[in-house]
Amino acid sequence: MKTPHRPVPVVSRRNFLGRLSLGAAALALAPRWRAAESAPAKKLGVVLVGLGKYSTGQLGPALKVTKNCRLVGVVTGSRDKGMAWAKEHGFPETNIYDYDTMPRMADNPDIDVVYVVTPNGLHARHAIAAAKAGKHVISEKPMANTVAECDTMLAACRAAKVKLSVGYRLHFDPYHQTMMRLATDPACGPFLKMQGDRAFQLAAGAWRADKKLAGGGPMMDLGIYLIQGACMAYYGFPKLGGGLEAAPVAVTAKELPKTKPQQFGAGVEEGINFSLEFANGAVCQAHTAYVQPSADTFRAEGGKGWIEFKEHAFTYRGMVVETNRGPLHFDPPVNQQALQMDDFAQCVREGRESRVPGEMGRRDLVIIEAVYEAARTGRRVAVKV
Ligand code: NDP
Repeated sequence: MKTPHRPVPVVSRRNFLGRLSLGAAALALAPRWRAAESAPAKKLGVVLVGLGKYSTGQLGPALKVTKNCRLVGVVTGSRDKGMAWAKEHGFPETNIYDYDTMPRMADNPDIDVVYVVTPNGLHARHAIAAAKAGKHVISEKPMANTVAECDTMLAACRAAKVKLSVGYRLHFDPYHQTMMRLATDPACGPFLKMQGDRAFQLAAGAWRADKKLAGGGPMMDLGIYLIQGACMAYYGFPKLGGGLEAAPVAVTAKELPKTKPQQFGAGVEEGINFSLEFANGAVCQAHTAYVQPSADTFRAEGGKGWIEFKEHAFTYRGMVVETNRGPLHFDPPVNQQALQMDDFAQCVREGRESRVPGEMGRRDLVIIEAVYEAARTGRRVAVKV
């Protein structure tokens, strides 16, 4: 039988020698590589600041399954809560701090990352305290109440040579990653028409309706998800540097009439409709409110395809997602918070930039401030990130 003809790879002498020397170098390094591979890297130590609902319900449990980091302490106004967390997570009582003793974290080599989970209006103060103690920082969303506060956080982290990231967990969620992939798939995107709705009934007395602590109303807390969704659907996976290229170019907005003026005072909207206009003509129409009915939906439509988050579009579990190619289903569901924190820990280890850095948090505050200006003036406002 005739042997089938196989093309012979062309290797010049120079290439051949180059390969040879590379091969020798690789051989010389091999034992060290193997040692690095076999020794599991030390988990980075994380401290949670503020032991409220999100820390207790999501981040604490996630830190029990993270691979690259673990909980080593807390900052809390309640010593009792701190003691209970120390017992449950197995860290020493000396790693319980309060908001005034945060500077002492500088002396604690167990702590690598400080995760700020306090009300929005306190993020800047706590992030800056962490940076000054020489710790890398994750801030929950929204990054702060204002762009000016974001700038102070970025400056403090730059000065301390530490990294700053925002708790944008959906960048690690496979449904949202699929939307980003489809956005740049010519068989589906670009998505030109987007629509989102995020609302729930806010309990009376919550800090989320306090201008100083929340920075505003549902736009700060929930509308920010619609901004994130629209930027993902418009651009796909953002470039490094905070995804500035994914920002809308202009916004319009209308605040909705208040039905509960006693709960939602000056500077705190009860609901708002806004639209985001992108450079390619894509538009996102969005609604967010702190009243019933609850909503958590997002749809992005292109000339050839679409994706629709019918339920739990921006929450942790239970997403119901359909596309023009059929339903999407990822099983088992991922732990978004664990993936997000593990990625940040890996960024710190490798000295690389987070895909959700402080610059992205600042970008979203620029957009939010433009939305508020548009609602106040009734004008179309240009977005300058
Ligand atoms: P909670 O009100 O449940 O918890 C906030 C915690 O902050 C409190 O329990 C308290 O902790 C501490 N705190 C310090 N100062 C104050 C103060 N003046 N008033 C109230 N609390 C104070 O809020 P959440 O956990 O729901 O939200 C915290 C942050 O996390 C917010 O920025 C929010 O936007 C964000 N978040 C993000 C989510 C996401 O999916 N990425 C989901 C939910 C929230 P202690 O008693 O320990 O001092």
